[in-house]
Amino acid sequence: MRPADRSATHEKRHAQESVGRRRMKTPPGPLPLASRTGLGYDSHRFGPGGPLILGGVSIPADEHLVGHSDGDAVAHALTDAILGAAGAGDIGEMFPDTDPANRHRDSMLMLRAAVERLASLGWRVAQADITVIAERPRILPHRRAMIERLSAVIGVDGDALSLKGKTNEGMGWIGRGEGIACLAVATLVPRPLVDDQPDAHSGHGG
Ligand SMILES: [Zn+2]
Repeated sequence: MRPADRSATHEKRHAQESVGRRRMKTPPGPLPLASRTGLGYDSHRFGPGGPLILGGVSIPADEHLVGHSDGDAVAHALTDAILGAAGAGDIGEMFPDTDPANRHRDSMLMLRAAVERLASLGWRVAQADITVIAERPRILPHRRAMIERLSAVIGVDGDALSLKGKTNEGMGWIGRGEGIACLAVATLVPRPLVDDQPDAHSGHGG
C-alpha cells in the first residue's frame, strides 16, 4: 500500500470510529422493547345448522362451530395472540364461559375489548398473521371479507393482516372434518403516547 493510500484509509477509519463513538452513547436506562409478539391457538368442533361464523364473517353453511360464544375460532386465536403479546392473560380469563353473559357473545366484541385493554397498557397491534386449518369451508372465497372485518376491529391497515387457509391433508380430527383449528401471531408496538408532543429542544433557541 502506498503511503497516500494508507493515509486515506486511516482518515476514513478515523471518521467511522468517530461516528461509532457518538452513536454508542450509553442510554439513560434500560432500552424499551420496540415490539412484542404473541401466539394464539383455538379450535372448535362442527355442529348441525348454519351459518358458520369465522373471522367475523357469516358463511352460508349447514353447520356451525360449537362454542359458548359464536365459536369464531379465528377471532379467538387472534384475541389470544394479542393478549399474549401484552402479557395480559387470555380470552378465557377476560370472558369466562361460566358467565352467562358470555353465552353467544359476538367474538368481534371480545376482540375489540382485548384491543382496548392493549391500548390501556400502552400497546397497539402493528401486524398479525393467521392460518386457518380446516378441510371445509374453503377459506379463499371469504378471505378478503375476513381481513376487512378483523383489520377494522384491531385497528390496522388491511395489508398488515394476513390470513390464509390450509387443509390438514385428511389427517386426524381436522382431516375427518370434525372441526376447525386456527393459529394466529400478533406483533404489538408501543402506542405513540408522547410522540406527538413538540420537540422540547426545538423552536425556542434554548
Ligand atoms: Zn374459541
